[in-house]
Parts: sequence; structure tokens; C-alpha cells
Amino acid sequence: MIHRIQFRLLAAFLLVIVVAMATIMLFVLPAAEQQIDAYAQRTGRLQLARMQHWLLGYYSARGSWSGVQPFIEEMGVLYGQWVVLAQEDGTVIADSRSLLFGQPFTEDWTEVSLRDGGQEPERIIGVLYVSAESGIDEAFARALRDSLGVYLALGALLALAVALVLTVILSRAISAPVQQLVESARKAGGGDLSVRVSVPDHGELGQLAESFNAMICDLERSAELRRDLVADTAHELRTPLSNISGYLEALRDGIVDPQDALSSVEEDVGLLSRLVDDLQELAMAEAGTLQLNRQSEDLAVLIERSMNSVQARAEAQQVTMKLSLPDGLPPIWVDFQRITQVLHNLLVNALTHTEAGNRITVAAENQGRFIEVRVSDTGEGIPHRDRVKVFERFYRVDRSRNRATGGIGLGLTISKHLIESHGGSIRVEPNEPKGSVFVFTVPASAPSPQPLEGSPEQGAY
Ligand code: ADP
Repeated sequence: MIHRIQFRLLAAFLLVIVVAMATIMLFVLPAAEQQIDAYAQRTGRLQLARMQHWLLGYYSARGSWSGVQPFIEEMGVLYGQWVVLAQEDGTVIADSRSLLFGQPFTEDWTEVSLRDGGQEPERIIGVLYVSAESGIDEAFARALRDSLGVYLALGALLALAVALVLTVILSRAISAPVQQLVESARKAGGGDLSVRVSVPDHGELGQLAESFNAMICDLERSAELRRDLVADTAHELRTPLSNISGYLEALRDGIVDPQDALSSVEEDVGLLSRLVDDLQELAMAEAGTLQLNRQSEDLAVLIERSMNSVQARAEAQQVTMKLSLPDGLPPIWVDFQRITQVLHNLLVNALTHTEAGNRITVAAENQGRFIEVRVSDTGEGIPHRDRVKVFERFYRVDRSRNRATGGIGLGLTISKHLIESHGGSIRVEPNEPKGSVFVFTVPASAPSPQPLEGSPEQGAY
């Protein structure tokens, strides 16, 4: 409960209300009350001065206080106050409420002495008393003070109601997509990768939903790849294994020459171990855990070494190989072993698909940041629809023929990973008038800062 968005929002709103109320009570209310008191005192003083003025006028017109009682009563009604007039000795001679007449005045009221200005020295002719509590202004000030408190309480109640409504609206707006995400994440965790969330929000929640959907897409894709890999691997293992078991059975039954059977089994075991090696390398490449030992290398040396490794086979097949490099090629920034492996794979493929009397050419071109290497053959070529697919794992253009040559369809997939791990790219184009050209790029020189001579860069990709 305490962790729910609804509860947190409500708590935040309540906190804001409490802080606002406390600020009003601490600062605004005392200031308002001070102002009200000051106003009440000012008007009280003004009224007293007026009463004093009228009473002095009364006295000077008559020369005594006789008949002043109705005048005092009128004054009391007029100002809404309890007004008492007493002699200097304190005996009450007029009372607006006719209660204290003739009694000595003992209350602690606001008082003002009335002096006869016509005599020298001035003589006190009476004392005017006004009740501190009874005035209209005092009552008004009290009512104002009370109503301030009431309005403050009403305001707090209204703010509370608004806070509750806002909490419901906002928490729904926030928690609905979050709830949707939680629900979808739960489903995805349970293996249902078809879930997607749709949040019509362009803010953080919308971005979160987009990232979630992208993550589920990735998960779906990698689950698909994993499924395919297992299915493909099982398929590739099945043929050599059933071959081996067939030969073993024939051997046991004595219907096959042991020498022939052994060499066939050896061939299939070789195929299986190549498959395992390639799968292991592919798994590492796809997981990004292949270690690259990159250094500045001479491309010409690398190409020559790769060509030498297949020279004997080319001669046996009566295929000529040609190297065509421009002068002044800059060094390349690569893992020598890995790029040699790529080139070797391309040359073996070219030899596999090229008949006697044809030619394989390796050329390179400086393109600035990258060096482009082209391996062209005048062999059977690759149909247009297969040109992208040949880089997919286990893809073979002619499955039956490649089985015979021992190809398992992983060489180009691994080559693509290796080239891309160097920051380059690889593609295949048709050769004119026939054959294929495999084109790949590798970085031209070491990225800055240049590492020290003899300290190769180690890194996984
Ligand atoms: P494989 O082990 O079968 O050679 P690759 O991944 O190296 O696997 O190649 C995939 C497929 O691409 C091959 O089976 C072949 O059909 C096709 N291929 C590769 N290189 C060439 C080429 N130079 N000429 C024609 N086809 C090629």
C-alpha cells in the first residue's frame, strides 16, 4: 500500500497542503490579526475623540451636565458602545445603559477626562468611560478574526478535496501504463514474447514503453535465432552421424571393405569436428567474446600468406591466382590471424566454385580510412537472390553439392562477424562476365592515440 503511486501522490499533496496551511497560520494570520487590531484601535480612538468633542460642546452650551442622560444614551446607540459619564470623584452621572447611575465607577474601561477649556486653570468637569468590549468595531474585528479561521479551515477542506480528485486522476494516468508494463513484463518473463505495450504518451513513460517493446523484439529475435541454431545444428549433425552408423553396421555385417569404410568414417568425423570448431567460433563471435589482437599490419604480406596456403590446391585444380595491389598501400589495423582466416575462407570458396582453366584475382584499393579488398573468381557465380543469404549461417546455394565438398555454410557467417568486428563490411557482387567478387573493407591505420610499438591492442567485440 505504502509503495503504491496513488498513496505516494496523496501523501505528496497532503504534505503540500499542510505546509501551505502552516505557512498561512504562522505568517499570514498573525499579520492579518495585527492589522485588524490596529484598525480597531484607530477607529476606537477616533470615536472617543468625537464623543469628547460633543460632550464638551454640550457642557459649554449649558454650563452643567443637567439633562445629559438622553444625550449619552443616544451616543451609546449611535456608536454601539456602552458609554458612561462620571464626575471627577467617580460618581456616575449618565449611563447609556442606565445601570450604573449614581454609583461610583470602578471598571477598567477606556477613559478620557473632559476639561473645561473656558476656565483658567483648566478644570476637570467629568470623565468619559467607554467599555473596551462593547464597541461595534471591536465586535467586527473579533468576527473578522473568527471568520479568517473558518475560511482557512474551509480552504483546507477544499484543497483536500481537490487533492483527492487530482490523486485519483493523476494516479490513474500514471499507473495505468505502468501497470500495463508490469503485466507485459510478467507475460514476457513467462515466455510469451508476443506482448507489446502501447502507451499514448510522448514523455518518459512513452519512451519506457518504446524501450520495452524494442527489448521484447530483441528477445524474440534472439530466441528465434537460438531455435534456428539448434534446429540447423541438429540437421547438420544428422547426416554424418547416420553415415558413420551406416558404415559401422555394414562393417559389422561384413558387407563393406574395412579400408573404404574407415576412410569414409574418417571423412565424416572430420566434417563433424570442423562443424564443432566452426560452431564454437560462431558462438563466440555472436556473443561478442572473440578476442581481437589488433596491430598495424602489412596487407600485402597478409594476402600473400593466404594465397600461399591454397597455392598447392589451386595448382592441383589448374586454377591460376593473381595478386594486384597498388603501390603505397598504408598499413592496416587488424588482427592478422582473423583477417587471414577470412581471406583463406574466401580463397577456398573461390577454388571450390571455380573450374580448371579459370582465374582467381585478389586486389586492393586505398579508400582513405578503409582499404577495400576484392577476391574475384570466374566460377559458377551466385544467383542474385542468394547474395545476401550466403552470409546467413548454414546457408548453401546448392546444398547437395556443398555436402560433397564438405562445406557446412558457416565460413561466410564467421567471416562477416570477423570483418564487422574490425569495423569493416563485407558483400558479394557478380563478376563480369561470370563468377563472383567478394568485397570486404578493413581499417587503414591505427586509431589515435597510437599504441606503443610491440603493445598490441587486446579486445573483445
Ligand atoms: P561453405 O562451407 O558451404 O563454403 P560458406 O559460408 O563459406 O559455407 O559459403 C556459403 C555458400 O555460399 C556456399 O555453400 C556456396 O553455395 C556459396 N559460395 C561461397 N563462395 C562462393 C563462390 N566464390 N562462388 C560461388 N558460390 C559461393
